[in-house]
Amino acid sequence: MSDKQKRFLIFGAHPDDPDLLFGGTAYRLAQAGHAVKFVSMTNGNSGHYSMDKEALAVRRAGEAQASAKILGISEYEIFPLNDGELEPTVENRKRVIRCIRKFRPDVVISHRTCDYHPDHRAAGQLVLDAAYLLSVPLTCPETPVPDNLPIFAYTFDRFTRPAPIRADAAVEMDSVREIKCRALACHRSQFFEWLPYGDGLELPDFDAMDWPARCAHLDRWLKRFEKAAELGRETLRQIYGDRAASIRTAEVFEQSDYSFQVPQEEFARLFLP
Ligand SMILES: [Zn+2]
Repeated sequence: MSDKQKRFLIFGAHPDDPDLLFGGTAYRLAQAGHAVKFVSMTNGNSGHYSMDKEALAVRRAGEAQASAKILGISEYEIFPLNDGELEPTVENRKRVIRCIRKFRPDVVISHRTCDYHPDHRAAGQLVLDAAYLLSVPLTCPETPVPDNLPIFAYTFDRFTRPAPIRADAAVEMDSVREIKCRALACHRSQFFEWLPYGDGLELPDFDAMDWPARCAHLDRWLKRFEKAAELGRETLRQIYGDRAASIRTAEVFEQSDYSFQVPQEEFARLFLP
């Protein structure tokens, strides 16, 4: 697949999930000319301690577009659905099916359904529910079934029950850490306001911070990908050889068995430019 343009579509629950979970890989893919679309299935209008919902949704839409520009991706769409209220309804399932059929991706990525956040679980459920019905012409008949059905993949999370994520593919993140920091810093309302607030931390003074300080602050979220690299060490070895031992952080993906599948060796290289 490496000689042709590949198309990647990631469904996150909130505007910042695709960036955090797929941002480094997305940047590299976009740089190499592949098409990458981010979708946030909610408008993020619950993630703040002082803003009202309407202003927050507008602010977060702007943050998402700024991040998309930095990562060089094709599109960052935000569904007009309330944060904290995402449900795997038939209506939302159809929305996902239409979105996939229109973009015609080779790979669709989303959350697993064993995640702490109800919106993440619902997003994962909606995408899984779409995986089979995508190929049924009488489901959403106004949007034709694509000729090629995509591969479905789960993105990294820290949860271990019923099982930790299986790193069928792993992409080193160390060399794109800086650009990923730049993308995450666009989501100031989250990484510099809401998330530290939610964790009971002292709120950082964004304006007073220089770039290295902002980047160091974001380390709290990027450190998770050290765990991802550990989980994906064998897969990293498969791709990067001896260099794999020194890779500190990685973005990892598990192949879903609810859809069209490829051998692990092929899946492992799917996310490489
Ligand atoms: Zn989220």
